[in-house]
Amino acid sequence: MRPLHARYPFFAAARDAVESADVAIATLVAEDAPAVERGVERVERALMEGTVEAESPYSWDTESELLSYPISRIIVSLVETPAAVDKYARAEADTAYERMLADFDAGDDDVNSDARATLDDFLREFDLVGEVRAEPADNRRRGPSHYWVDVGPYLTYSDPDWGDHWRLVNRALVDGAVRVAREELYELLREATRRRVADGLPFSVRGSDAGDQLASALQPHVERLRNLLSDRGAVNVVYTDSVDPDHFPPCISALLTQAQAGEDLSTEAAFTLAAFLVGVGLDPEEVGGVVGETHAEALKTRATILADSSGSQYAPPTCETMQAYDLCVNRDDRCDTISHPLIYYETATKDAAASDADAATGEAN
Ligand code: SF4
Repeated sequence: MRPLHARYPFFAAARDAVESADVAIATLVAEDAPAVERGVERVERALMEGTVEAESPYSWDTESELLSYPISRIIVSLVETPAAVDKYARAEADTAYERMLADFDAGDDDVNSDARATLDDFLREFDLVGEVRAEPADNRRRGPSHYWVDVGPYLTYSDPDWGDHWRLVNRALVDGAVRVAREELYELLREATRRRVADGLPFSVRGSDAGDQLASALQPHVERLRNLLSDRGAVNVVYTDSVDPDHFPPCISALLTQAQAGEDLSTEAAFTLAAFLVGVGLDPEEVGGVVGETHAEALKTRATILADSSGSQYAPPTCETMQAYDLCVNRDDRCDTISHPLIYYETATKDAAASDADAATGEAN
């Protein structure tokens, strides 16, 4: 197993490395091996943060990192939610894209070259060697700034929804090839990666004794991830013209105070706070602006992912999940009447508006 395989586990050579390692996934799961923990983290971070990068990258050896990939595919399949597959495949592709950019920039003299991929590696991986041709470089150090991609793969891996400039009618097309900038070629490779990861997902895990045992052993992780996903879609997003922190539920006020004081936030706490603030109508910039300097960048990034490109938004966890995370604190009377922090905010805002209207009527009389 090469570090390169762990870095790009969707490469065919990585899959061969897993097969030739002759390690039974069922055994790893039964023994609760590190690869299982990393596989669970992989899926959880994909669903909650849009990346599969490990929170502590140096905690995992090459074998655990590589084996975590097939385990994460099993977990995603068991979650049985189309949103999970989509989010997971995008996160794998986005993480690979970041790594690809770093690798291509690193150059040939890099000491970690055994872990790094080249553009040729990616073109070979996706059978694009003869279908992508570089223009002569203006600058030999930086390499070609443009490439010609055969129209077939261009149409396969591009999406007109990315913007008008991706439409074929707006492109230079010569001898059946489309001219793309280097950065655009990398976008096409990201999409090729997303498709490779999504291919075959979800698959059927149950149906044999071994599959049923595997599914049972992973069930607690799968349930937790399912809850996270269903929490995200459970509540209508509450939009208000102006967001009033006085109406925040006590759990969120506590998290906000913690963030503003620069204290550490657990993954669940950071996700909850960002998702709540996005849910009440703050944009990612505003989220970064209210959570204090220490967490501004990280929560702004989370908020950007949560308010993702399709415009769909994700609700923070329900009160039940908040209790399980020990994030339900300082409950008050209103907490007994609601089941979700966003519903708390919605009812508190409505009650305050009704009471203001009553007061105005009283004054008029
Ligand atoms: S009951 Fe719900 S809204 Fe109230 S503090 Fe707990 S998690 Fe927050």
